Amino acid sequence: MDEKKVQNRMKKAVKYAVATGLLLLVTGVFFALFLRDTVNRTVDEQMQNETDEYVRRVNKQITYDLHLLETAASLLGDTNVTEEESFPEILGNAYEQNDFLSMGYFPRTGNGVVASVDGVREMMLTESQTEVQEVVAAALDGGKMVSDLFWSTLTQENVLVYGAPVEKDGEITGVMCASDHVEIFTDILNGKRVMGGSGRIHMLSQNGEFLIRYGEPVVKEEKASIFESPYFQDDEYLTVQREMENGQKCWFSFRYEGKSYRAFLDPVGVNGWYLFCVNSVEESSALMFLTVKVTGGIFAGILVIAALWLIFFQRIVRKNTQELRELAYYDRLTGANNFSRFRQLAAERMNVTPNCAIVSLNIHQFKFLNEMFGKEQADRLLCHVADAIGAALKYDEVFCRESADFFYLFLRDVQRDRIRIRLEEIMEKATDFTQEGGEGYNIFMYCGVVTSSDDRTVYTLDQMMTHVMFALAKARETHQNNVWFFDSKLHEKEKMDNYVEGHMYQALENEEFCLYLQPKIDLKTGKTASAEALVRWRKKDGSMIFPGQFIPIFEENGFCTRLDIYMVEKVCECIRNWMDQGFEPVPVSVNQSKAVLFEKDYIARLTDMIEKYQIPSSLITLEILEGAALENADELNAKIAVLKSKGLLISMDDFGSGYSSLNTLARIDIDELKLDREFLKEAAEDRNGKTRVILEQITRMTKRLNIRTVVEGVETEENDRMIRELGCDYGQGYYYGRPVSEAEFTEKLYGTRWK
Ligand code: C2E
Ligand code: MG
Ligand code: MG
Repeated sequence: MDEKKVQNRMKKAVKYAVATGLLLLVTGVFFALFLRDTVNRTVDEQMQNETDEYVRRVNKQITYDLHLLETAASLLGDTNVTEEESFPEILGNAYEQNDFLSMGYFPRTGNGVVASVDGVREMMLTESQTEVQEVVAAALDGGKMVSDLFWSTLTQENVLVYGAPVEKDGEITGVMCASDHVEIFTDILNGKRVMGGSGRIHMLSQNGEFLIRYGEPVVKEEKASIFESPYFQDDEYLTVQREMENGQKCWFSFRYEGKSYRAFLDPVGVNGWYLFCVNSVEESSALMFLTVKVTGGIFAGILVIAALWLIFFQRIVRKNTQELRELAYYDRLTGANNFSRFRQLAAERMNVTPNCAIVSLNIHQFKFLNEMFGKEQADRLLCHVADAIGAALKYDEVFCRESADFFYLFLRDVQRDRIRIRLEEIMEKATDFTQEGGEGYNIFMYCGVVTSSDDRTVYTLDQMMTHVMFALAKARETHQNNVWFFDSKLHEKEKMDNYVEGHMYQALENEEFCLYLQPKIDLKTGKTASAEALVRWRKKDGSMIFPGQFIPIFEENGFCTRLDIYMVEKVCECIRNWMDQGFEPVPVSVNQSKAVLFEKDYIARLTDMIEKYQIPSSLITLEILEGAALENADELNAKIAVLKSKGLLISMDDFGSGYSSLNTLARIDIDELKLDREFLKEAAEDRNGKTRVILEQITRMTKRLNIRTVVEGVETEENDRMIRELGCDYGQGYYYGRPVSEAEFTEKLYGTRWK
């Protein structure tokens, strides 16, 4: 994975984390708002419930007072009192029995009696205060009445007056009234208990004037009415006024001294009075605020911790990425790029401009240097090499140490000469290393080089990385500073060699080796006198591999012995087929490698085969290379003697291709001499006729030795004429016929198709 990917993932992770954080924040805000709403609703509900309760209690108190008064009034009605003189006594008694502040009785005449702490005294109704007169007037009309609060001149305090009609024989004869001081509501409206202490409750008149203020008021300046600032800042008061006129419950909010307050107006149901409950939002919602604060705090805490974690995590990841990057991209010892980083960089650079060269640089016998100098010195050497390479690189070039002493270079040069000069300079500097205890040991290096294209192909980086190893292997072959360029042709050959060696056994088993035959022409008659068996490797895909591509390898690795025997058998099989079909079989010569001749049971196997196929052994000629005859001549002669005794014929192949010696002819007992096609070529091109003379001599000599001559490589009519003139016996070459498959040869020779 490259760095960009890691960074992108990191960015993604941060984005997700931030998004999650924001989500948490938004959720938190929504949660807080929801909580606030819920709490507000709950507080409103509580305010209403509590105020309702106070209203109920106020009403209860009034009802109670009225009830007491009614009782007193009914007692007065029931007693048979007519004389006005007895009123003071009766009223005095009633006053004694009740807790009213003052009591009074006013008959219809208006000559009433009043009882108070000062005693009982007569009083004209007209003398009494207006509020009393109103109550009496209303009570005389049959209703029980409660007055507004007013300042009593009689008791010298704020009071309210109740009135109850006194009936006698179904007729209202007068009115019993009583005053009570405002404090009767104190116990009820004790501010300390409102809303758990955060609220104040006051009593208002219908037009919003304060009748009673309980507890410490919120608004310190004693306002006469709630319709004064600070209770309302806008037109909301109009709505509130209207609702109060209609006796409706209503809500409003206001701010005072930087705090928010909620106000509730609850009609008492008496004289248009209202209970006015004011509650500090902050105080009553303290729990809510605390909850919101705590929740917010927790959220914020989580966010901060998450953010810190994120930063911490990012740092760790960055640090780790850096470390991993170093591990993943750099070589610890030299600080150079490592191989994977090198490949990545090379690929990136090649994508931009493909022209480049890849070099693999190696130190000769590094493992021994390691042993000789010790690890520390060897490490120093590697660093020195890395420095030398690094210093020689130009813009856009990179290098790496893959492992041990393997360095790769990506150069922007494609010209071989320039590359060679640069590498030689690098190697010179890199090998200029003073080692301790090295005793002047010479360090050498070698480089394999591949350029991004040659005259045939443009290579990919992968191909270049593979090819450079082949070049490096070649470069290793010399023990000096050496630069070797990848050669595609050579490589193709090496590839083929590798294929050949890797597939030979399987190919033999699969009968991929086929018998091809080339005619040898009797120059006297011009007819096919015999044929040469030539092997062809026909691969499964139908493509053909020629002997030149595999025989040298088989000779080297010993597989040739198997192939040669196999080919002898193929030839026996072929002759047998001809015989079976009633054709006059022509002799066939088979190429035999030097090694097969010296196989332990070679002769036995040949004779067994000839016997197996029941063919005359004289139909088989064994072609032996001249080279085989040069060494072990005696041993070879002995073999030949046995083979000849079995009826087989011996031919010496490719005479004149190597260090030919006429001596060989004398030393080896052969039946046929095949003159190499190079001989013919030379003779054909021969200006001063020397080769011709030699050929003439050879022909003459072979005749005398009773050896027939075959000239190979006859390609033209001129060649044919020349060998005839030279007195050769047989000719073989494309001029007469190319090597063809058994079937084709049979068809050509016998004029029939192969069965
Ligand atoms: P060789 O035994 O000297 O075979 C003659 C080679 O010359 C054949 O090549 C043939 O195709 C080629 N030739 C024939 N006429 C002409 C011509 O007019 N012009 C030219 N330029 N070439 C001509 P081929 O088949 O490629 O075989 C090459 C060599 O491989 C053979 O040379 C032989 O040494 C070896 N070889 C072939 N088959 C076998 C085999 O079964 N066993 C062994 N040990 N070697 C074999
Ligand atoms: Mg041959
Ligand atoms: Mg030959």
